[in-house]
Amino acid sequence: MDAYAKLLGLCRELDLVGKTAALLGWDQETYLPPRGIGFRAEQEAYFSGWLHRRFTAPEVGDWIGAAAAEDGGGDPVRAADLRLLRRDYDRATKVPAELVEALSRATSLAHHAWVEARAKSDWRLFLPHLRQVFDLTRRKAEHIGAGKPYDVLLDLHEPGLTAAAFGALLDQLLPPLVELAGRGAEASRRAGAELPAGPYPEEAQRRLNREVAAAIGFDFAAGRIDTTAHPFCTELGADDIRLTTRYDEADFTASLYGVLHEAGHGLYAQGLPREWAAQPAREAVSLGIHESQSRLWENHVGGSPAFLGRWLGRATELFPQLRGLTPERFWQIVGRCERSFIRVEADEITYDLHIALRFRLERALFAGELALADLPAAWNDEFARLLGLTVPDDRRGCLQDVHWAHGGFGYFPTYTLGNLNGSQLLAAARAADPALADFGAPEAAGRLLAWLRDRIHRRGSLLLPQELMAEATGRPTGPADHLAHLERKVRRLEEA
Ligand code: ZN
Repeated sequence: MDAYAKLLGLCRELDLVGKTAALLGWDQETYLPPRGIGFRAEQEAYFSGWLHRRFTAPEVGDWIGAAAAEDGGGDPVRAADLRLLRRDYDRATKVPAELVEALSRATSLAHHAWVEARAKSDWRLFLPHLRQVFDLTRRKAEHIGAGKPYDVLLDLHEPGLTAAAFGALLDQLLPPLVELAGRGAEASRRAGAELPAGPYPEEAQRRLNREVAAAIGFDFAAGRIDTTAHPFCTELGADDIRLTTRYDEADFTASLYGVLHEAGHGLYAQGLPREWAAQPAREAVSLGIHESQSRLWENHVGGSPAFLGRWLGRATELFPQLRGLTPERFWQIVGRCERSFIRVEADEITYDLHIALRFRLERALFAGELALADLPAAWNDEFARLLGLTVPDDRRGCLQDVHWAHGGFGYFPTYTLGNLNGSQLLAAARAADPALADFGAPEAAGRLLAWLRDRIHRRGSLLLPQELMAEATGRPTGPADHLAHLERKVRRLEEA
């Protein structure tokens, strides 16, 4: 058997075990009774240790080297498989085991400290833990790559991304975005549109969510929606995509838009090329592309006036208190713009201001221009500059996100890339198919999905994310289409 065939056998085995471990993780977030967590944590640690040992065995490195020397006959799938295996093998073997263990311990302690620090809004409780996670994460980056540590971390989350490139994108995006956020917030404040009072029964929300997800093409024969505290989407098999949501009986739009978001991720997972089964080339290409799919269905399709107009009738059957609401008023409620403190609650217009702030702080930390002890003050200054609000306490400021406790430096920019990519992909899809101008027509969702299947989903990880964007839209990720989308939205809010 040649080396590439051995690698494919290994991938098959890692996929079987990895997806089994993912099922345990999904169950932990949905149905696991509280006292089951101790044994579950042991199970998960066992699986991840097994997967790591199996993948980092010396013979795997030999196979990758030997396969690269074999004649692949110019097969692009094989080339992508070997490129990704080489990358992942190097990452997994370059970091010493002691450092991996130290980071795992430090992040789990930091997570606990963060929960308490956030509840008490006390930065000092978190600072020593964050210092340790930060130092270990920087050491990890130094082992992995030759570049600047922050660039190495950005590349871990979005292949090819650098601080210089993302900084340049923000330089173009921010001035108009700050202005749009001011105008949008003022227009929404004047319109004063509010959702009629609940309750919106959970059972009726479930029905609506399911109907809407099916209408945009999510295949329930190969997926489910379950309930969780922190919504996510996970792939347990090519024909087993799990979406999750949570319910608030005072506001059905929270779970509806949460489901549209996760269904966007799920449609991508359901569209990845199944004939490449467990091969690395079948993986989603990046977080920034994954997030473009969720944002596209959540904000551009679900948030469009035509789509809301189309679904208002069905929503009113399920929730009679919506009677009398006009489609335009419904859109003003769903599309409300408001400058607020918490990123995960931010609307589409202000969202990227929250990301810009985090990126600037992370870049300054890794450049040695900002000390961790000074992070709260720097956060609050930057927040006032970008969002014009005075942060009242660290709970609503620098302690709000879990990412840093987990060592997830360099993750945040992928959210903004998702927004920009989503707008740019839709603009390209509309240029190719004018029927996509109106998401009120029932067939429009299917036509958009077909375009995305063809240009994004079926491409798997054959290309790097920016190569894929250039292939699908004619250019790399830029802010123009996203700003044009937000400008149209703000203008409509202003005309209300
Ligand atoms: Zn997402």
